Amino acid sequence: MSNSALSTSFSGLDYLIVGAGFAGSVLAERLAHALDLRVLVVDKRPHIGGNAYDRHDDAGLLIHPYGPHIFHTNSADVFDYLSRYTQWRPYQHRVLGSVDGQLVPIPINLDTVNSLYGLKLSSFEMEQFLESVAEKIDDVRTSEDVVVNKVGRDLYNKFFRGYTRKQWGMDPSELDASVTARVPTRTNRDGRYFTDTFQAMPAQGYTRMFEAMLNHPNIKVMLNTDYREIVNLIPWKQMIYTGPVDSFFDFKFGKLPYRSLQFQHVTLPVERFQPVGTVNYPNDYAYTRISEFKHITGQTHSSTSIVYEYPRAQGDPYYPVPTRENAAMYKRYEAEADARTDVTFVGRLATYKYYNMDQVVAQALTAFKRLRARHERQDAQEISALTRNPANIALSDT
Ligand SMILES: Cc1cc2nc3c(=O)[nH]c(=O)nc-3n(C[C@H](O)[C@H](O)[C@H](O)COP(=O)(O)OP(=O)(O)OC[C@H]3O[C@@H](n4cnc5c(N)ncnc54)[C@H](O)[C@@H]3O)c2cc1C
Repeated sequence: MSNSALSTSFSGLDYLIVGAGFAGSVLAERLAHALDLRVLVVDKRPHIGGNAYDRHDDAGLLIHPYGPHIFHTNSADVFDYLSRYTQWRPYQHRVLGSVDGQLVPIPINLDTVNSLYGLKLSSFEMEQFLESVAEKIDDVRTSEDVVVNKVGRDLYNKFFRGYTRKQWGMDPSELDASVTARVPTRTNRDGRYFTDTFQAMPAQGYTRMFEAMLNHPNIKVMLNTDYREIVNLIPWKQMIYTGPVDSFFDFKFGKLPYRSLQFQHVTLPVERFQPVGTVNYPNDYAYTRISEFKHITGQTHSSTSIVYEYPRAQGDPYYPVPTRENAAMYKRYEAEADARTDVTFVGRLATYKYYNMDQVVAQALTAFKRLRARHERQDAQEISALTRNPANIALSDT
């Protein structure tokens, strides 16, 4: 298509939305449905859904190419909103850790401690046990301090040290306390990974849910397109940007560091590979964990697909690296972003935060409320300008 044809076919466009993940898709849906505005969603990837995209592999198994995505939230607003576009399959994720030749529950609970140490503690005794092994540290500064202070050195070595070194490529003693701000431990036998009120998977998968959200005559989707290819060719009024914030500003304050992952997907001719959705390997192997999709999706199939996760320094941006320097660099980008009245920055990459899916949906819904208020103010001003002009009043009276 020629440049002028491109411009003509998108004339009357209200919003250019960069990114078709949760942030971009929720905003496209809201702007089109609730405000009747015209939006174009562009994504440089060949699919919608961002990192939550799922698809069937060659064996016909539903997989998550960007790693296992488990939906959980305490927000009824977020759950109700998404429920307009999907039905749900109840699912409570379980994770086991491969430690000392055993598979034990993560987060650490009563069963974990009893199995590992050959004990028969009660819940009350487990509290005493944790208190007796915790090494009290007055000035908690690093991730190591946080964990050792709470569960002592042996559990720290068994569950956290190796995992963190693999995940971040750094020793927990070098990482800020905020990385492991909270160490979830349970003195009961609750083996669920999450305890949120709403825990469920989209019944037909995430991609079907995104398709339903974006299915509106006011929404156009353009895939395989970096927004830079079209940003000056298409007459947009406002932009929603959900890509990396440093890239938007041409890295003028430096590159915000990310930790990446390499996914190795494997299909096996067996019905079940492991007893739960995810098994963590804190101490052995180069990968951090293996997830088996059939637990998560509930699919029945004679084969099974699993994914290994290998942390990497280079690659797609997945986890913002939480150091003070990086937070300071982001603050400078944030100030630039806040100053832009024509662009709204939403989502995990645009705000340099590790957010779960529900947090991104909540952030997008909040951004929408602000944008709606702005549109309502603009409409009110236009109506008041019209009614102040006597020529318009005479016209509307006739
Ligand atoms: C391994 C892993 C596992 C996770 N598991 C869970 C989980 O179990 N539960 C949970 O709640 N959350 C999980 N998350 C977090 C979840 O992936 C995010 O919360 C969610 O995907 C964020 O949505 P988003 O729209 O902000 O970003 P994204 O999904 O990353 O979407 C941004 C989109 O912008 C596009 N884009 C970027 N730059 C450009 C450009 N220049 N031009 C055009 N398009 C561009 C990208 O291609 C991408 O599609 C996990 C994350 C990872 C990395």
